[in-house]
Amino acid sequence: MTDNCPNCPRQDVAPVAEHTRGQHISHLYQCPACGHVWSTNRDLGAYGQEAA
Ligand SMILES: [Zn+2]
Repeated sequence: MTDNCPNCPRQDVAPVAEHTRGQHISHLYQCPACGHVWSTNRDLGAYGQEAA
């Protein structure tokens, strides 16, 4: 799942790492254009997956 760089106009940045914890998934991104690093956290429930 790609994201847009919050620091420059670069779009569709691919995640460099992915971590799942319980119902939450986090992605780590590094912009190839400006080098900015950021992460996102999403709730798996929002994507229709049921908790174990
Ligand atoms: Zn950037």
